[in-house]
Amino acid sequence: MSVLSALEPKSVFSYFETICSIPHPSGQEGLLADYIVRFAQERGLEHYRDELHNVVVIKEATAGYEQEEPIILQGHLDMVCEQSSDRNIDFSSEGLDLYIEDGCIAARGTTLGGDDGIAVAYALALLDAEDIPHPRLEVVLTVSEEVGMEGAAAIDLSMLRGHKVLNLDSEEEGQIMASCAGGCRVDCQLPVERTELEGQLCVITVSGLTGGHSGAEIHKRRGNASRVLTRLLVELGRQISFSLVSLEGGSKDNAIPREAKAQIVLSSKLLPALSAALPRCRDIAAAPYLETDPNLEVKLTPMGHGLHKVMSSHSGQLVLTTIQFLPDGVQAMSQDIEGLVETSLNLGVMSTRDSYVQLRFSVRSSKLAAKDELKHHLYKTVTALGGKVFFAGDYPPWEFRKDSPLRDDICALYERLYQEKARVVAIHAGLECGMLSEKIADMDAVSIGPNMHDIHTTEERLEIDSVRRTWELLLEILALKH
Ligand SMILES: [Zn+2]
Repeated sequence: MSVLSALEPKSVFSYFETICSIPHPSGQEGLLADYIVRFAQERGLEHYRDELHNVVVIKEATAGYEQEEPIILQGHLDMVCEQSSDRNIDFSSEGLDLYIEDGCIAARGTTLGGDDGIAVAYALALLDAEDIPHPRLEVVLTVSEEVGMEGAAAIDLSMLRGHKVLNLDSEEEGQIMASCAGGCRVDCQLPVERTELEGQLCVITVSGLTGGHSGAEIHKRRGNASRVLTRLLVELGRQISFSLVSLEGGSKDNAIPREAKAQIVLSSKLLPALSAALPRCRDIAAAPYLETDPNLEVKLTPMGHGLHKVMSSHSGQLVLTTIQFLPDGVQAMSQDIEGLVETSLNLGVMSTRDSYVQLRFSVRSSKLAAKDELKHHLYKTVTALGGKVFFAGDYPPWEFRKDSPLRDDICALYERLYQEKARVVAIHAGLECGMLSEKIADMDAVSIGPNMHDIHTTEERLEIDSVRRTWELLLEILALKH
């Protein structure tokens, strides 16, 4: 039985309900792609589908709009699938159980997939309508956005004629997304030579840091456990002679490490001096982070006497100095959008093998040139020291356009409709528009969407009135004549 049939705009909610009844987890978008292809065939619309199940549907301009530039409407087919412990649904074969509460649509005990099912619903409602004026519509629906944007990376868009992109994957009404970061993973390997040394093995652990996401929270200048540990060891080296065995810190390149540890070997008779020196070294290393990381803790654990393969004195020095002097954190702020981090990097994972110490960085920038320059800087520095550098997972930024006729149109319409200014924003993380910018010449894009709450969780809700207002805004954008 239909749950959303009383809601307006009818067509949008009806398609949304249908989408929620068709399974579409990331990587399993085939059934939803089948539905859209059938929809396009029934209406005689030009359409394309690739082996990943990315879908493109094209509808020609309505009368009087033939001279207007096409609009590319874009969203993703896949949804994040989460369920509460008392639910047991198979997302690959079952639909969702929708309900309405407090002006929002939600799904019982699961994610709703308003992100990004509502984009698909808007697109189908527009493609189906016979009474809505619009220029040529080029609908681009991608797969696997939530798990690495594989669909947007692979999709062929050579059939498109437009360059104005309306991405419908934002979740705050009144916010107009205008740029995102590109990124890359950089693995720096610093070579180490080892010798055998007899002595006391100790583990020094730095823990209790606040951590956070390397895109969303890098500007908060929180401590990076790997770097705090390095600073502490450099300070310790000034007072006590020890040899380094290993350095470990963090587990993901896109998270600021909360914990790191070092194994060192020293003469047993120096153990009391080490215990005595540690608190002062800790204070020096932790000093910049008293506000951001109040629970920072340093622990010393003696592991017993024995024979150990330690780094040579030269190797140990080289590793610690290099970590200390490689850049980390925010490198530049945006000149276009206030408060936006333009370029940053995060030493996410530090690990040790027999012959090298590896530093894994996540590099981000909303400027392609700045991203390349930072990659080059890491490459030059580390290779000059005899190390190796590997790049992986490169994705392009969506650069801010100072001159964006589409953004200007939308801002003006928004202000006329709601008597308040829209906020032009950007994020320091990847979006599909970055991928598309490489495939659409002179891309002029914005990302908008209705209010959604707690996306990617079982509490996900989609605001009904906001869906209606965003639909009205969409119709106004399409009805513009230039
Ligand atoms: Zn999304």
